[in-house]
Parts: sequence; structure tokens; C-alpha cells
Amino acid sequence: MQAEALSRVLFRFSAGYRKDLWRLLVRPLFELPALLCVEEAKSNIEAVKRSCRKSFKRMVGLVPKISNELVELFSGYNLRERGMKLWRDSEEKWCARRQRFVLFRQVLSQKEGDLFAYTPAEAITLINQYARLCPLCDGNIMSPTHLRTHDVLAPTPVDLLKWINGEVRWHKRHLKKLGLVFRRTAALKYYGTLCKSVINQINTIVYRRIEIEPNQ
Ligand SMILES: [Zn+2]
Repeated sequence: MQAEALSRVLFRFSAGYRKDLWRLLVRPLFELPALLCVEEAKSNIEAVKRSCRKSFKRMVGLVPKISNELVELFSGYNLRERGMKLWRDSEEKWCARRQRFVLFRQVLSQKEGDLFAYTPAEAITLINQYARLCPLCDGNIMSPTHLRTHDVLAPTPVDLLKWINGEVRWHKRHLKKLGLVFRRTAALKYYGTLCKSVINQINTIVYRRIEIEPNQ
């Protein structure tokens, strides 16, 4: 699949960039199936949904175990809703054409509510970590709630992404007001380091692994 081949090449990019590419290259492939989701049989809809979620996970580097709810939230793409929208849009266009007036469509910024716009790759590593089984306890996954029992304070995936994206947006606006340049790479590097510190904490406490910083 295209998404899988691309995900290997793009491994070094931030998750935000990888999502942009998914939106650009892979998501359009689901637009037609999305339209079918409005009226198709349930089993077909489920198959399309699964395939769409799979492409997103592979492209941004999320492990298969991540819940469907989180994937839909992160991708901001709900096939049925999208299908309904496409359906309504084409109906509107058809009516407008019949009434011979041009329809002006408001272009909405997708970026504002996007939890993935500014997401470093380390955030994905951390979220993937939560889906693993805890090596200290039987059968428990290392959710943020479970990690708390081992004294590791880890944010939930949604809180983590909301916080990073909110902070980066705030800094961006602030720098703009001051007439300074916003550096996306530097911002992502900073938040990536913070995610890495939580990963290191999990490694040290749960895996009893001590991270040795490479010599500068
Ligand atoms: Zn445990």
C-alpha cells in the first residue's frame, strides 16, 4: 500500500508533517468511499473505515493497537460525516447551478482544531508506548492511569496533543505580535524533548533501563 511505503521514507519527519501528507496523498482516496458510506451496507462501511484508519496509523507511525476513537480524533476524519458533507455540497452545487447563481463557499481553516498540526515524532512514540503491556504487571496496558501506579506522571494522548498544539499556537501568535519569526522545527524539537523525558521515565522505572545521554 502507498501509505506503508511512504511511512518508511517519512519516518524522520514530525507527525504533523506526516499527517499533512496523509491528508494530501492518502485521504483523497477515501473521498469516494466516504460518499458510499452514506447509504452502503454496514459491512462495506466498516471495511472502508478500517482501511482509512489503517492508512492513517501507518502514515503517522501509530501502532495498530491505538483505539479507533483516538485515530478518528487525531485524523479529524470521520468517513460517514465526510460522506454526508460531500453529499450536501453536491446537492447545494446542483441547486445553485439550476438557479444560475454562483455559490461562494467559506473556506474554513482546518488547522485551528487540528490536534496534529504541531506534533513531534516523539509524541507518537509516547502514545504508542501507552498501548504496550506493562512488563511489571500481568495483562495491564501502560495507560497513563496505569503508569501512575508506578509513580510515572504521563499525560493522556488527547491532553498531550492539546497542550503541545495549544502552546505552539500561542507562541506563534505571540512571536508574530513582536515581529519575530516562528521556527516550527525548533518548537517541535523542544516539545519532542519533553515527550522524550516522559519516555525516559517509563524506560527507567518500568523497564529498569537507564538512558545514557550521548556525548555532545
Ligand atoms: Zn504495571
